[in-house]
Amino acid sequence: MNIKVVKFGGTSMANKDAIERVKNIINSDPDRRFVVVSAPGKRFKGDEKITDLLLASYEEKKSTGSCHIFFSKVRDRFIEIVNDFSLKLDINKYLDEIEKNIDQSNSPDYAASRGEYLSALVMSEILGFEFVDAANIIKFNKKGSFDASYTNDLVSSRLSMDKGAVIPGFYGTMPDGSIKTFTRGGSDFTGSIIARGVQADVYENWTDVDGFMTADPRIVDNPHIIDFLSYEELRELSYMGASVLHPSSIFPLQSTSIPINVRNTFNPSAVGTFILKDTSDKKTSLITGIAGRTGFTTFFIRKALMNNEIGFCRKILSIFEYYDISIEHMPTGIDTMSLIVPNDHLTDGLEFEIIEKIRGEVNPDVIFVYKNIALIAIVGHGMSNQTGTAARVFTALAAANINVKMIDQGSSEINIIVGVNGEDLNRAIAAIYHEFF
Ligand code: ASP
Repeated sequence: MNIKVVKFGGTSMANKDAIERVKNIINSDPDRRFVVVSAPGKRFKGDEKITDLLLASYEEKKSTGSCHIFFSKVRDRFIEIVNDFSLKLDINKYLDEIEKNIDQSNSPDYAASRGEYLSALVMSEILGFEFVDAANIIKFNKKGSFDASYTNDLVSSRLSMDKGAVIPGFYGTMPDGSIKTFTRGGSDFTGSIIARGVQADVYENWTDVDGFMTADPRIVDNPHIIDFLSYEELRELSYMGASVLHPSSIFPLQSTSIPINVRNTFNPSAVGTFILKDTSDKKTSLITGIAGRTGFTTFFIRKALMNNEIGFCRKILSIFEYYDISIEHMPTGIDTMSLIVPNDHLTDGLEFEIIEKIRGEVNPDVIFVYKNIALIAIVGHGMSNQTGTAARVFTALAAANINVKMIDQGSSEINIIVGVNGEDLNRAIAAIYHEFF
């Protein structure tokens, strides 16, 4: 018998109809034994996610001493689900205790985690599976970093049962027993941790889309679904804005050969996307996917004979290090250098201070800042050692009359990064998409 870990996201847990689907998916395959759930998400456009309501409850208690108004909304949603499934679970008992605890807590993490906690309680009742609290098996160290090896031991021994179990996503505990959450969307990460701990054959991540798409469906109509995605490609695409899966989800699985299969709760017949460490033996297309986002700034520096000046790069880089700014890309010419950084690292006009520092340190002939850059990543192992891919990208952009402001390609040839004006982002993605798909 195989072991499948299945994780269901917020939309899959949002209401009766969705949870009914989740139940059918699990019951249709006895291998689906370990179930990780998110908190109920939005039921319709404009609705509120439980996690957001819980964070608002914590803010309310901080300013007024009680979380009652926002917590009532959380209460109503869980009572509705319990009634919809005619569960025997005394949900009010749990809700009362949580409301009291939020009123006494000093950190938002406890409140934020309770959506997953309640969601898992309800789901274990619906499925007749055991409830296993993530607090007992997912651990952080004193510094607040995830403790992978301790957690792995706990998960393997606690989940060595034959029957099914439901585990809440998104949180674990600190050595003092207090709750700590992962970053938002972190239930995906919990799913990977569990998959590794139980040595699953596959980690199915059930969401509300048919898989990873070759481009953002808000920009391109009906983009293709990616069949196979490598870890590296996933990192590149997620970083650039493709948000189907929490980008950290691959880390617990890196030393294993467990595939992640992204599936759609609302279209279970679709096979979805398989995310594998290595896709070299799979048939993949030239380009696996295209993603992009706005919000970058370029520092352009020119100095005659820059290439002869030993230590030039180091001096510039240490200025950015001093201000704690991460550099995303750094294309260079013989006498020029561009540094691309995220806008949100440049609050309060910090760029002017940096310009002055650079002037003082390396005395450039020209330095200027351009604040409105969008970056697009054209990603795919398929393009390595193939001629003409870059030419096709730039021909497509030229035909769409889009000015390219920056080009960067590493020698791994897994991606080509193109910088364009912020307002050209969507048009550029569409032009490249139509060239390749
Ligand atoms: N519920 C949490 C969030 O909204 C975690 C998750 O769904 O993965 O971010």
